[in-house]
Amino acid sequence: MMSERIGFIGLGRMGRPMAANLQRKGFQLTVFDLNETPMDILAQLGAAKTASVAEVVENADIVITMLPGSPEVEAVALGPGGILAHGQAGMLIMDMSTVDPASTDKLAAAAGDAGLSLVDAPVGRLASHADDGESLFMVGAADADYDRVRPLLEAMGTTIHHCGAPGTGIRTKLINNFLAIASCQMNAEALALASRFGLDLATTLKVIHGTTATNGQLKINYATKVLSGDIEPGFTIDLAHKDLSLVLDAANAAKVPLPIGAAARESLSLARATDYHAKDFSALLDHWCERAGIEKPRL
Ligand code: NAD
Repeated sequence: MMSERIGFIGLGRMGRPMAANLQRKGFQLTVFDLNETPMDILAQLGAAKTASVAEVVENADIVITMLPGSPEVEAVALGPGGILAHGQAGMLIMDMSTVDPASTDKLAAAAGDAGLSLVDAPVGRLASHADDGESLFMVGAADADYDRVRPLLEAMGTTIHHCGAPGTGIRTKLINNFLAIASCQMNAEALALASRFGLDLATTLKVIHGTTATNGQLKINYATKVLSGDIEPGFTIDLAHKDLSLVLDAANAAKVPLPIGAAARESLSLARATDYHAKDFSALLDHWCERAGIEKPRL
């Protein structure tokens, strides 16, 4: 069987290294982004750059989208000049962005009506994992479509979970990000308090990591980012705010109360209104300390 031609739309902090890993590992990519710079980087690796979504679709059997959120994915997939307007029956769309699950359901139905299939495969772990081809994927797909995308996911990551039918990948992602982002806010509050108490940071962390209070955000993200003095993203406070808003909307639609989620989202709303909006989400710590006039903890 001829190998599938891959289109990749959205070459930002995540999409660029994911596409680069695919291209390096032998897939032939056709790429598009509103930004020229990442397209040029991919072109240097041998990918074909294009001037439009339509041009990607004409040269692909599988089209991957890695865009900021639902408005962008809907515009690219359902809008005039978009994927469905140009896609042939049998084409597969794999959306890897973090979006509203209701929008994924809408896209899956529209794709099905046009004879295309949709896979939702949002990405877990940090941007640095995407750089190293070590991401985790949560996949919502029919079995045959899962078999089709699996080689691509194996080229971009190390851990793949088939969560169920289309729509289950993105719902799993929202559960995951609720915990990750709420933990990030709790860590900020806890470490601000430790700093105000005048506690030694290294000792405090040793204690936390020795009990069930520890969490992955503290162990990995805080350790390598804010506590080491690096607050460049990574995953921005803007995107974390978007994700928690998606969580709250989806929970509201499902009539599930999330009081901690709502409080954490509003803390992110405060941070988003400052210069921290485009910093890494571990910088919630610095933002919190600044508000309360507390010295920023550093390792
Ligand atoms: P980003 O803002 O860095 O990249 C988005 C890219 O999409 C940009 O290059 C932008 O130019 C492009 N784009 C926007 N609209 C477009 C359009 N209409 N046509 C073509 N290109 C368009 O965002 P990111 O950090 O790469 O995140 C992408 C998605 O992955 C988001 O949904 C995010 O929540 C999710 N995510 C991010 C991380 C992370 O750590 N950064 C981790 C997991 C998941």
